[in-house]
Order: sequence, then structure tokens, then C-alpha cells
Amino acid sequence: MEKKILMVSAAALLGMLLAAMVAFTQFSAVHNREAKREQMEGLWMFASYGNCKEGVGIREPQLSLELPENLGKEGVSVENNYMDQVIAIHIPGMEEDYLDSHPFLGRMDHIKGMRMEEGLVEISMDGVYEVESRVEGGYLYLDFWAPWQVYEKILVIDPGHGGSVSGDIKQNIVEKDLNLAIVLGLKGLLDEDGRHIGVYYTRTEDANPSFDKRLRLAEAVRADFFFSIHCHSAADGQMSEVNGTEAMYDEQKGDGSQELAEIFLQEVTASLGSKANGVFPGNRDYVLRSSKVPAVSLAVGYMTNQEELNKLKTPEYQRQAAQGIYNAILRAVK
Ligand SMILES: [Zn+2]
Repeated sequence: MEKKILMVSAAALLGMLLAAMVAFTQFSAVHNREAKREQMEGLWMFASYGNCKEGVGIREPQLSLELPENLGKEGVSVENNYMDQVIAIHIPGMEEDYLDSHPFLGRMDHIKGMRMEEGLVEISMDGVYEVESRVEGGYLYLDFWAPWQVYEKILVIDPGHGGSVSGDIKQNIVEKDLNLAIVLGLKGLLDEDGRHIGVYYTRTEDANPSFDKRLRLAEAVRADFFFSIHCHSAADGQMSEVNGTEAMYDEQKGDGSQELAEIFLQEVTASLGSKANGVFPGNRDYVLRSSKVPAVSLAVGYMTNQEELNKLKTPEYQRQAAQGIYNAILRAVK
């Protein structure tokens, strides 16, 4: 009997604990949202930490590391490989077992593991974090921020295909290269003038991250939307009269993707002077269907149309496409 009462009490206690945890989580979420806006001004430039509220994510300073002697300031570099959720710290001249005698000081609860080799420390994180680093008085200081603590709006830009997956190829023009060229042009525009928008790219080189990895990025950064960029071909792959720009979204979600698709279509066709073919249901597309955030896939033009192909391969047309996408992003984040 006593045992049973004990078990019942234990169950009740567990229930209360769970309820408390849920309540706290909900409170935190609300609190985070409220605190986010207050933090924004101070954090855009990573210049000020004074606004970081107690209970909102991460406090500073988080980690510090005494650097090997005789190391110049310019010696240390920190690379944020957010696709792999790895922070790589290059410390030239650091011996492989240096951390055994000089461990990191401080606390950061989102570290999953650490790997060391000569001149390199790789920190595996449990998500995507913005990292600010500084070298001062012989120490390296690292501060981590969740993207939503830093940026008001967050998006993921995804140049289609890459690496061993070319997409369409017409007359030696390869779709993956067109997609990347347009996105790199877009990145130039966003780097210059998109400071309040957090932009993450699934690739900025000729690589082919898996669909799931691309989608994971959008989830990890809590993107406001995911934007994929492609060039089209006629269904039979033959050269034809069919041309123009079109956008796809998952018609089964009702998450605002359709409105986004329309914005992208309007702005890109306005910038290119291309024909607007419309926005189309894209639930059959794995990425659109699987995305946990609103997602749009844009086909800039038809590689199977000779005139459009001739345009698509020129840097000027790619630049105009980038400008159109940029205009759409500015409109969309409003
Ligand atoms: Zn494609």
C-alpha cells in the first residue's frame, strides 16, 4: 500500500514538474519575442551586449581561451560553417594537445563536441549560432547568439543543385552554375545593404548539400522563409518556344508561401522584362513539401528557349535576376 501511495505521489510530482516545464517554456517563448525587439538595435552590429536580458538565451562572455604565446592577432580566424553547425577556429602554431593544458574557460550549453588537430579546433554546436570573436590580452573570446537574437528577419537562400548534380545542361551551359551565379550576385546586394536581415545560404560554392541538410538549415535558424532558385527546361528537354519566369509553392500548406511566390514572380519579371508564367502548385516537390517554413522555388527562365538561354548565361541578365530577387526580399520582409 505504502509503495503504491509513493508511486502515485511520484507520478503526481512528475506531472507537476512537466506542467511547470511546459509553462516555463511558453513563458520563455513569449518573453523571448518581447525581448527580441528590444535587443535588436544593440545587436545588429554585434557592438553592444548591454541589452542582453537575463533569461534570454545566452549570456556573455561565454568562452575564452588563452592563446599560445607569440601568436599575433591576425593569426586567429573563426569560421562559421553553419551548414554543418560547426565553428572552426584556426590558431596557427597551436599544438594538437594544447587544449589539454589550456582548456576553454566559461560556459556554453549548446556545444555538442570538440575536435582538435594542429592549428585547428572544431566546435560542434547543437544548432546554428552567430559567433563573435575577439582577441584581447592574449585571449580569444567567443560569444554565441541564436540567429533570432540578432536578426529581425531571417531567410535561407538555396541555389538549386551543385557538385555532382548539374541540373539541366543545354549547349554546355549548366543550370547549377547559373543558379549559383545569380545567388552570388544577390549575396553581393544583401551583404551591402541587408544588415537587419539574417541571410543563410545552403551553398556559396559548387557543392551539393542534401535536401534534408538544406531544409535543416531553415529550421535551425527559424527562417521566415526558404527561397530556392532554379532555371527551367521544357518537360521533354527539347528546345522550344516556351519561355518565361515562374514560381512554385506548396498549395497544401496555406502558410503564406503563395503570396511570397507572387511577390517573387512580380519583382523578378519586372527586373528581367521576362514573361510572367504564373505561380504554380508545387506540393510534389520534395523540398517545398518538406519545408517547415514558408518556401518558394523560382525558375528564372527556360534553358530550352534559345533566346532565354542566350540571356541567362550573361552576367548582366544574372545581375538583373539578382536585383529582382533582392527587391522581392525587401518587399517580402515587410
Ligand atoms: Zn533545377
